[in-house]
Amino acid sequence: MIITKTREEIELMRESALIVSKTLGMLASEVKPGVTSLQLDKLAEEFIRDHGAIPGFLGLYDFPNTLCMSPNEQVVHGIPNNTPLKEGDIISIDCGAIKNDFYGDHAYTFPVGEVSSEVRRLLDVTRASLYVGIAEFKANNRVGDVGYAIQKFTEDAGYGVVRELVGHGLGRTMHEDPEMPNYGRRGKGKKFIEGMVVAIEPMTNMGTHRIKQHRDGWTITTKDGKPSAHFEHDVAIVDGKPEILSTFKYVHKALGIETDEEDAFRQELLVV
Ligand code: MG
Ligand code: MG
Repeated sequence: MIITKTREEIELMRESALIVSKTLGMLASEVKPGVTSLQLDKLAEEFIRDHGAIPGFLGLYDFPNTLCMSPNEQVVHGIPNNTPLKEGDIISIDCGAIKNDFYGDHAYTFPVGEVSSEVRRLLDVTRASLYVGIAEFKANNRVGDVGYAIQKFTEDAGYGVVRELVGHGLGRTMHEDPEMPNYGRRGKGKKFIEGMVVAIEPMTNMGTHRIKQHRDGWTITTKDGKPSAHFEHDVAIVDGKPEILSTFKYVHKALGIETDEEDAFRQELLVV
């Protein structure tokens, strides 16, 4: 069952989303060679609590930490550990926070120092595919329209679209209807309506789309060991159109990246 949100609830969800956005922005300055994912996890937990929110992943389905930290060939759901990041790595950081009983949930894949041009392209294409998908998240379109758009864009670039893990509705619980696959067929699946809020989150592999589950029961890696990227935004349908509630502006400010990629999906420009 799809649980739509009122305008007031969407504003509350924007608050939850922005706490996650600011957490990722704080982490952007801390991701560097030598730092461990466990250190970053502690920083994020403190930051979220200092902002009057609760870490959204900690304890959810018994997940042990605040962040899912997935380096290199890990796709998603990596558990923070004591291994230092090294120059040329990438690390996907997925973060959740609860404020006013609503979840924020989004993700960004960071380069650690300088990465190869092949890896840079994987990050750029995956992030671009997110907006290609968001553009299709509008009233009267269907789940398959978003999935088709992301899949086409990604496969045209020569990459693999993960099938087993998908985006999702978001609200007072972390995973609501509908499931939002990053693959699909135009015009198929549930219809989008005013007031829906979803997390759209392409997970893109440089090589095969196939994945495997690690023994720890959480970590998902690519089957061929090649790198994988993950970008996620929280998006509502307002006046029939997609409105991004989260933002990468804090991250991009920290990283010195200038882009207006989100502005078309925001009713008022967000100045950071
Ligand atoms: Mg997420
Ligand atoms: Mg999600």
